[in-house]
Amino acid sequence: MKVAVISDVHANLPALEAVLAAIEYEQVDEIWFLGDSVGYGARPNECVDLLREKADLVLAGNHDLAVAGAFSLDEYRYEVVRAWLWTRQVIRSENLERLEQLQPQAARGEVGLYHASPRDPVWEYVTNSEEVRAALQWSDSRIILVGHSHIPFAVTSPGSVRIDQVFPPENEWFSIASDRWLINPGSVGQPRDGDPRASFLILDLGAKAAKFCRADYDIELAQKQILEIEELPENNAQRLSSGV
Ligand code: ZN
Repeated sequence: MKVAVISDVHANLPALEAVLAAIEYEQVDEIWFLGDSVGYGARPNECVDLLREKADLVLAGNHDLAVAGAFSLDEYRYEVVRAWLWTRQVIRSENLERLEQLQPQAARGEVGLYHASPRDPVWEYVTNSEEVRAALQWSDSRIILVGHSHIPFAVTSPGSVRIDQVFPPENEWFSIASDRWLINPGSVGQPRDGDPRASFLILDLGAKAAKFCRADYDIELAQKQILEIEELPENNAQRLSSGV
């Protein structure tokens, strides 16, 4: 089975549409989404609709849960909270219900899927070796997929202690046939690795291989859509051109 793994769309419709078009060429059997359909961006309803239509598995991210009212917004940065409050105002009730029902983790065969990490599927960023080690310990799955940090990476654990980071070039298959793997597909709607193009992963579970992909999209359009909405911070638009 061939799967496209996407994450962190954040209401960026031009980016989501570009990635779905790129995925068409890959002829995948399923699309798995690791969460955060909303937050930051200007087209929450359209993104929730499109993900419901196209994705076979949809996880909840912290932004989805924030909009759904799963926790108090008091302790979060005003810049982030503003987008959550605006999203709550405009999101249709059936979409809000959908967000409320989502879970931040799932499993499919030998693959464990988490929005953030196995230890804390909603909030924990996996960015250093201690967090990678914890992720491998807290999940029994051989292949672990996480989103949340918006930074694409792949690490493999050939033993119980050693961890090797691999840097596969874009569009090049790498083998995941042996050992354990922890992979982040990067973000569709708000990449933070300095490359503004939308990021995603193709996983061939039959051939046991994976590849990282990027898709160009109309960044100016996504920015214009954000700037048209007074309640959304300007920085949500500006950061898209530099991919941070
Ligand atoms: Zn996110």
